[in-house]
Amino acid sequence: MLQVDGVSKSYASHQALRDVSFEVAPGEIVAILGPNGAGKSTLMSLIVGLLKPDIGSVTIGGVDPTRMSQSQRSGIGFAPQELGLYPSATVEENLQYFAGLTGAGKKAVRRMARDAAEVFRVEDLFPRRISTLSGGEKRRVHSAIALVARPRLLLLDEPTVGVDVGTRREVIAAVRQLADDGVAVCYSTHYLPEVETLAARVVLLHHGRKVVDGPLAEMWRNDDRSRITFTFDGEAPLLQGTERKGDTLQIEHVGNPGEFVAVFFRSHAHELRNLKAVEIERPSLEDLLIALAPDLGTPGGEIK
Ligand code: ADP
Ligand code: MG
Repeated sequence: MLQVDGVSKSYASHQALRDVSFEVAPGEIVAILGPNGAGKSTLMSLIVGLLKPDIGSVTIGGVDPTRMSQSQRSGIGFAPQELGLYPSATVEENLQYFAGLTGAGKKAVRRMARDAAEVFRVEDLFPRRISTLSGGEKRRVHSAIALVARPRLLLLDEPTVGVDVGTRREVIAAVRQLADDGVAVCYSTHYLPEVETLAARVVLLHHGRKVVDGPLAEMWRNDDRSRITFTFDGEAPLLQGTERKGDTLQIEHVGNPGEFVAVFFRSHAHELRNLKAVEIERPSLEDLLIALAPDLGTPGGEIK
């Protein structure tokens, strides 16, 4: 669906993106992560054709977004980081205005506005003026606008910044549903628990470079800092390569804990017959990312 190939982009003398490549397939969610200034918003502007890469190329369904016709462009839904709503108009008027830009007729426009509103649950806000909404409500309307033309590719730039827990959940559920319906989603955020909930693929940008690209499960498999604790009824058996503490056995620095446990069960079936519980503790996503880009953990390189 989306192909970003060797893209670099500079603003005057500042290089915002360096040789970034990745792909997004239909039904896939890619979380674009990185500290402030990493290049996330620049990348989104390039993908929707608002900016042109200095080097490299972007194609969506094989087409360069800067050369798309109006109708091709409506297949891309984009909610930029800055809110773009008409404050004195109502929620319904805002949605219908953006739906109208596709050239659809009056009846279709009303239907498009309703459908998009349903996804981000803003139907109840239809008669309200934008200026009377809370920050979280505005964010939801802003995200819904990206959906009015029923895009096959959706880009949401920090859709959950400054919203409450309930809104965050709704936005995450909506994104999951859209991907399940086959929409390709690029989503930037600083809130790592969302990325885990969505089981998204992670693209981590750092100083304009892509430093990580992979599914979360793979990132955990490639890290060797999991700890496994076996708890027994009564004293734990003495087993080589494990540390015994009373009724528990601990194994540190495990790379692929699922596979490790499977092999451990097979080779120690007899010694494990009094086993009561198995606990696997994995490093947090934040720990994983900091291991991959160490200065992310320092101020200015913040992730939350
Ligand atoms: P992010 O969205 O990850 O916070 P951005 O893509 O907004 O990062 O910015 C990447 C870098 O490019 C930052 O250093 C930022 O200051 C710079 N930048 C962004 N937009 C402009 C612009 N219009 N003119 C000059 N520099 C810019
Ligand atoms: Mg940004």
